[in-house]
Amino acid sequence: MAIEVTGEWQQQRQQQQQPAAAPGRAQSAAAAAARPAQPPGFVAASIRASRATAAAPRAVTVAAGAGGGVVAAAAAAGGAAAQPAAATVVLSYHQPVTSTLTAVFIPIVAAVADGSGAACPGTAPPRVAMEEVKKAVFAEASPGAPTVGSTFNHYGVPWSFEKCDFDDFNGWADVADAELARRGVDLSQYKHRVYLLPPSACAFVGLAYIGCDGSYDCRSWLAADYWAIPQAIAHELGHNLFMAHAGSSDTGGGFDEYGDSAGLMGSCCSPRCPNTPHAWQLGWIAPRLLDGGSLPAGQTLEVSLASQAATPRSGLRIVPSWAAGVDPIFVGYRTRARGDVGLAPEAARRVHIHTAAIANPYDARVTVWRAALGGGADVWEHPASGLVVRLVGAGPSAAAITVCRKGGAETVASCAAGRDNDCNGLVGAGDPACAALLRKRHPRHTPLGKLPRGRRL
Ligand SMILES: [Zn+2]
Repeated sequence: MAIEVTGEWQQQRQQQQQPAAAPGRAQSAAAAAARPAQPPGFVAASIRASRATAAAPRAVTVAAGAGGGVVAAAAAAGGAAAQPAAATVVLSYHQPVTSTLTAVFIPIVAAVADGSGAACPGTAPPRVAMEEVKKAVFAEASPGAPTVGSTFNHYGVPWSFEKCDFDDFNGWADVADAELARRGVDLSQYKHRVYLLPPSACAFVGLAYIGCDGSYDCRSWLAADYWAIPQAIAHELGHNLFMAHAGSSDTGGGFDEYGDSAGLMGSCCSPRCPNTPHAWQLGWIAPRLLDGGSLPAGQTLEVSLASQAATPRSGLRIVPSWAAGVDPIFVGYRTRARGDVGLAPEAARRVHIHTAAIANPYDARVTVWRAALGGGADVWEHPASGLVVRLVGAGPSAAAITVCRKGGAETVASCAAGRDNDCNGLVGAGDPACAALLRKRHPRHTPLGKLPRGRRL
């Protein structure tokens, strides 16, 4: 197979990045692909694979082209190079395995020199015919059978543009790195390397290593239609930063690993910031921590949530220390501002509730979107923890909620003390459960009132 690469390598950004495509529209994505951004690295005019004659050596050569560009052409038998090569460099990748392995096989026959063909004393004529040796060595001589050729072809030609396996997209990145190094670019200055792929066999939007701990390059790849989609690029970089996906339960009871429209790590391409648990994982927000000690059962807590886009002092992280094995619950308010300016309508101006078992910044775990309060749905109950979150009001920069942890059925004591054991938002005689209890004991008891509700911001 021959590989041709044309394009330019640029160390400096020479052109403004194209404006981002409108979210979630294939048409815009296609337009973005037709007008690719000009990154400070490799700008490929074309990278394509083409079949050469069957016996073509599998080597990739890169030559310096005119005008600072590069032209690469395979040294394929019968295939003319795209342009005359001024200086040809054969790149090798996946050292020590190179793309071209030369070897010679030398059969030795020990025969006396009298022309009779008799074997020398102490030996005998060959036991294996040359034809058999060829069958053992050359894949072409023995198609489908294990041969030296099939072994080294498998490992020695690590990638192609005709498929999208691990070695393929890493092979493309290796070649790009090698060429940049040859041109004097010190890639060690850049922790993250985002490879913008040409149209290829890769069906993904993007791909990235999850977590870069320094033991390997922080690589990510964007498919051809997504070079200029901010959410797609940020999503892949997010994987490098140890974030897993942002999912949600779907209507059929299954789990959609990309189903969180409020999370950067969900599906492409609506622009949005990380969801509340991921923002906390990144250290971008410092949410208020609640646990069994700070959230006693039956005692409703009123909380003001600032917009997550506006301030790092935002959100709640509730560790249900009273309920073994239940993941922490995150509550955050999202408005259309800054990185969230393109938040989907159904996700904007909503209090979003997630659960996530993320324990530290290096703990790549999927987050689970649970609910959005606002737009008609104002209460979320979590059976596993007994937590009830209510929306009180939502404004342009903050929302007010109440958080309550269930402590069982109402009792005479809880009703008299004004606690909300059942977290129904009502206390004292204003709670039908209490009213029933109090009527039994004090038939003419004065109502104790109820929690203030309906506060607007
Ligand atoms: Zn992803």
